Amino acid sequence: KKKHFVAQKVKLFRASDPLLSVLMWGVNHSINELIHIPIPVMLMPDDFKANSKIKVDNHLFNKENMPSHFKFKEYCPLVFRNLRERFSIDDQEYQNSVTRSAPIPSDAQGRSGARFHTSCDKRYVIKIITSEDVAEMHNILKKYHQYIVECHGNTLLPQFLGMYRLTVDGDETYMIVTRNVFSHRLAVYKKYDLKGSTVSREATEKEKQPRPPAEEGAPAPPKSRMSQKLQTIRIATRFYCAIKHTKELPTYKDNDFINDGQKIWIDEESKKMFLERLKNDVEFLSQLKLMDYSLLVGIHDVERGEQEQPEEESEDNDAGEEEGAESDGGATGTPPDSPSNTLDSRKPLGPGEFDPTIDVYAIRSHDNAPKREVYFMGVIDILTPYDAKKKAAHAAKTVKHGAGAEISTVNPEQYSKRFYDFITTIMS
Ligand code: AMP
Ligand code: AMP
Repeated sequence: KKKHFVAQKVKLFRASDPLLSVLMWGVNHSINELIHIPIPVMLMPDDFKANSKIKVDNHLFNKENMPSHFKFKEYCPLVFRNLRERFSIDDQEYQNSVTRSAPIPSDAQGRSGARFHTSCDKRYVIKIITSEDVAEMHNILKKYHQYIVECHGNTLLPQFLGMYRLTVDGDETYMIVTRNVFSHRLAVYKKYDLKGSTVSREATEKEKQPRPPAEEGAPAPPKSRMSQKLQTIRIATRFYCAIKHTKELPTYKDNDFINDGQKIWIDEESKKMFLERLKNDVEFLSQLKLMDYSLLVGIHDVERGEQEQPEEESEDNDAGEEEGAESDGGATGTPPDSPSNTLDSRKPLGPGEFDPTIDVYAIRSHDNAPKREVYFMGVIDILTPYDAKKKAAHAAKTVKHGAGAEISTVNPEQYSKRFYDFITTIMS
């Protein structure tokens, strides 16, 4: 009861991009509505096809921040609420993370060239996806849910938390929210995207350049409304990174991992548990005929983190303050009885320490490791089905590299095996 009361405070949803404002508005609305919908004993087949939609016109209040006409559609609201619960994410906290202050544009570049955002508290990743991805999510959602039930949420797969369609100026944008693979507080200094294929699996010289985004060349002229939108996000990203003096963290790949002599120093028990999960996960993906996914690996250097701590801390404070004054958001999300209270109770975490209920993908290096590190490893990008398109790509690559060449477009079962085997070798 108390929580509801606190959440009613005025929120402005101020963001540099109207799309983000609409997302914040929408998630706020969605969670407020869901509070009044009782939790069913079990989900029904129709819940996996359901959606809720709302159209807002002449949103006169808060016109400076919100477009005056927009639509917001949420897919399978009860399913995602159930998933959030299974991933131990409290709805009020989720709402707070997305709405307290605008999501932050990320520095990494996605498959489609789109950047993604992280929630202001860095707990969640918000990605723009295609309508094909939305269709594919509908295809797999029931089995995915079943899998999450069976493994009790103990998986390296993406934790899907919400899927939305935003309509602004007649333009539709699809977004999906997942848990961040990386930590919400420990900085990652090196990042790998591993697929288990060694053909064309190194970062290009251009990709490796850790230059500030502001120095990047002028963006290519936008081709479509969609790419215009992405362009806007890109420009906003540069601006953000420039003012924050952050550098783009390059994404390294399989061959870089090998050539760097990179090691994952974790103890036998953690390794066993990790590989067991991975094995189940890729088997599941293979059954669903999904492929081309990656293991995202981030490495936190504890010593380095310690040296950079003061800066990190002041950044943390910034994030809390940013919009706190107007929206009062800083205080709204953590009522005394909130589950997050135990974490925020100011018992400070030491260097390299993490809360495993929040940084669920984190594994610390073992005691005899040459360096104190924390590894963040999770599977991302699972929505590519083995369809006609893939088969076409396979044919094209066979021509280019020869029939026996190691190529990344194999069938889902081969893909899962090769993927798993590669990850096994890098863990030993
Ligand atoms: P829309 O929400 O109409 O913009 O749809 C976006 C994409 O998701 C389209 O490719 C739809 O076919 C797909 N989609 C939307 N709702 C469902 C549903 N209930 N079941 C299966 N596919 C859906
Ligand atoms: P994608 O568009 O899925 O290929 O992702 C591109 C980049 O986004 C990856 O290389 C990661 O750096 C980042 N990314 C995607 N999903 C996540 C996630 N769940 N957690 C952290 N980073 C992510």
